[in-house]
Amino acid sequence: MTVTEPAQAPAPVPPLAERARSIGGSPVRDILAVTARPEVINFAGGLPAPELFDAEGIAEAFRAVLAETPERALQYATTEGEPALRTALAARATARGLVTSADDVLVTTGSQQGLSLLATALLEPGDTVLVENPCYLAALQAFGLAGARVIAVPCDEQGLDPQALEELVGIHRPKLLYTVPTFQNPTGRTLPADRRAAVAAVAARSGLWIIEDDPYGELRFEGERVPWIASYDGAGDRVALLGSFSKVMAPGLRLGSLRAPAGLLRACAVAKQAADLHTPTVNQLAAARYLADRDLDAHVARVARVYGERRDAMLAGLPAALPQGSTWNRPEGGMFLWARLPETYDTTALLPEVVRHDVAYVPGAPFYAGVPDRATLRLCFVTQTPEEIAEGLRRLGAGLLAGRKA
Ligand code: PMP
Repeated sequence: MTVTEPAQAPAPVPPLAERARSIGGSPVRDILAVTARPEVINFAGGLPAPELFDAEGIAEAFRAVLAETPERALQYATTEGEPALRTALAARATARGLVTSADDVLVTTGSQQGLSLLATALLEPGDTVLVENPCYLAALQAFGLAGARVIAVPCDEQGLDPQALEELVGIHRPKLLYTVPTFQNPTGRTLPADRRAAVAAVAARSGLWIIEDDPYGELRFEGERVPWIASYDGAGDRVALLGSFSKVMAPGLRLGSLRAPAGLLRACAVAKQAADLHTPTVNQLAAARYLADRDLDAHVARVARVYGERRDAMLAGLPAALPQGSTWNRPEGGMFLWARLPETYDTTALLPEVVRHDVAYVPGAPFYAGVPDRATLRLCFVTQTPEEIAEGLRRLGAGLLAGRKA
């Protein structure tokens, strides 16, 4: 005779880590999930124009490295990155006025990985991070996951206010400032040279790391390039500069770079080893091959020209689409522009009705670490043709009108 144990409910599994529990779902993300429908004209996505990818050039680079050095391209590689790509990245930074050697650069799996490596290397739970107001969403996530206290620095249409920054540094003793000084996500705005110098000076005076995130700087279709904060006096030993191939080559390659002082770079390399050992070898070698055989700058200039036409198409359609009293900016590059509807509008509340009109934007509120301005919204102007942009803005106008009446 067998004796069966009385049925016992299994004990519950232990809880998720506190940092994971604190990251909730996002109602905006749920609404925007439906914008994957093909009929939706999606100004929300932030996707580079796919028809402008140099698919043939990239395919040729992959074919070459797989045919000529398959044993290397398909093998494990060093955490810091393939020497050919690090050398090419250093040469590009040097050509833009920031003297850089291959040893100063870590290849990352997208610049997003650079952000999380820096958060791991620099932040203890409870440390204070200063960010722009509004700020790139996934940076807020990376700092939140590291347990940081995030505080927004007051900004105007040109970006960070250096005086407000200095005051906040005095009050909160932050460890780092995170900024996207050129064609910022979400606003498209660019920090002028004099403010960059002032930000570098504040950091030097007060002992502050700066993360300078620059995925959009090369996409300039108007005006003069502004030097990186990293190249101003006092910034040399305290700026981590993030670069990305996502907007100039293709985001699917997941290739980015981190340029930082030696001690910080070493710490990030250790964090990267724990995260993914290294960035895919074949992608790194193909990108290096592309840079050697082709003219990436000429390709980027072509892309920027088209993006400029698309920005103009959006600027042309906005006066009729947005309600009287709305304002918006006119970025000289990048992918986004930022609009503000009259005070009484709430772009989060209006989004479901707008999406029912088969068009989408991202409401401004989630981008604010401080008090949100609920009348703001982000529009990506690069993914659609001028004709589609015009149609999308007609739908946006109708959707906003219907949403207000509802
Ligand atoms: N930083 C900013 C400001 C971004 O907008 C993005 C992409 N949307 C990233 C970093 C991450 O880019 P990636 O990982 O593709 O290089």
